[in-house]
Amino acid sequence: IPQHTFRGLVESMPRRMNRTGKRRVAVVGAGAAGLCAARHILSRAESFEPPVVFEQSARVGGTWYYEECVGTSDDGRPIHSSMYRDLRTNLPKEVMMFPDFPFDFHLPSFLTHWDVQQYLEAYCKSHDITPHIKFNTMVEEVKPISMETDEGGGVRWEVILCGMHRGHSTQIFDSVFICSGHYSAPHLPSIPGIEHFKGKVMHSHSYRCPEPFAHQSVVVLGAGASGVDISFELAQAKAQVILSHNKPSLPFSLPLEIKQAPPLVKVLDDGSLFFKDGSVAHPQVLLLCTGYNYHFPFLCLKQLGLEVQHHLVAPLYKYLVLPAFPSLFFIGVCKNICPFLHFHYQVQFALAVLDGAVQLPSRELMEDEAKRERQRKIQKGVQVNHLLQMDSEQWGYYESLATAARLPPPNPVIQSLYEEVGRQRRANPQTYREHKWLQSQMSCLTDQHMEEEV
Ligand code: FAD
Repeated sequence: IPQHTFRGLVESMPRRMNRTGKRRVAVVGAGAAGLCAARHILSRAESFEPPVVFEQSARVGGTWYYEECVGTSDDGRPIHSSMYRDLRTNLPKEVMMFPDFPFDFHLPSFLTHWDVQQYLEAYCKSHDITPHIKFNTMVEEVKPISMETDEGGGVRWEVILCGMHRGHSTQIFDSVFICSGHYSAPHLPSIPGIEHFKGKVMHSHSYRCPEPFAHQSVVVLGAGASGVDISFELAQAKAQVILSHNKPSLPFSLPLEIKQAPPLVKVLDDGSLFFKDGSVAHPQVLLLCTGYNYHFPFLCLKQLGLEVQHHLVAPLYKYLVLPAFPSLFFIGVCKNICPFLHFHYQVQFALAVLDGAVQLPSRELMEDEAKRERQRKIQKGVQVNHLLQMDSEQWGYYESLATAARLPPPNPVIQSLYEEVGRQRRANPQTYREHKWLQSQMSCLTDQHMEEEV
């Protein structure tokens, strides 16, 4: 369908209703973002039909649904989660929770993946979301269709599905929320000569536990959250670890068992790894902790005018709305955020757009703003790869969504906790979760806030 077909239709679209007078929304994915979308759609029954959530696996939870197997499951489904067995959350539950659904009071602040999975299942149960989820159903294609003959005109969405036992089918929706996550498609850097490497090459997406690496030599590539965390796990399991990264220095000291190396340049003909300072290593395993790519195999990017690079999705107005198709919402594409809090505001802003409580600017103005935002960050020195990282800018962003959608802004205690935990983590990545002072800060800040609320 040529792009121009939609031009005149798009702007009137948020006001268009189907015959019941309610909008029909599809949600791709039943991870935390998809469940949050479903919960808020269900609570606006006057404007929306119950959502239809499509989930390729047999469970809710997404990233938090830990699966021991890697690659593909017994039923041939690609394993989505990159979760490893002994992970503990890097945010405390006080910061991680959806603002309207606290974690169990008895749990410690830093959780296991199992705790978070239980929490999401409880969220699902408490909001009666499960009956609205189509499990074992992969979304294969989401495409806009012109509805010129339909009363009011506008764009609707054809969602093509592949059910495990039911074959292909198609359903039509007024709006689609993309909640498919972005920690599943490994980013594999191109390493000259990698074909000469004689050991095992793997990505952290397929890392589950350290025992198989005991007494082996492992080069871990990348000192992001996973690279550092996994290096500690491996060293504790008596692997010989070299952590290769491109940071001038790490803001914390590593235990003696973990050596550091500068970036990997290439693999030599004899299979050894050659680092930037001229040193070489001959590990048994090269473990790529090099992050993940954005991946939307069910969207026709050209038709939508969407640019998806490894680490970029654009143009998105407010990191959420595709200006040319403002009934397609991308929930949670940003990084370095409080994910659940982020979903909470994005989802409610998107629903306010759909039910008309928030009026979007014209397509041109939204595109201009997305462009200006990109320029602003680039002028600040942000690399293209990091344009979707929010860090300290997330708080102003939530406030702006909250103001537009008439929601209470985030609790300032969350920001203080998040920042303090971040400082402690950067200084002591191995021990910050046990930090007594941090623990007392958390309970103190939480108590203080509770008193204020009372
Ligand atoms: P996901 O959890 O990835 O869920 C996406 C869902 O969509 C999946 O269920 C998937 O099966 C489904 N799906 C995808 N494509 C399709 C399709 N075509 N058809 C149907 N279904 C589809 N966050 C924190 O807050 N604290 C932490 O400590 C933390 N630690 C993390 C550690 C690791 C190793 C990783 C990878 C992430 C971590 N995160 C953490 C971030 C985490 O990803 C978010 O908390 C959150 O779970 C993301 O939710 P989501 O719904 O956006 O995506």
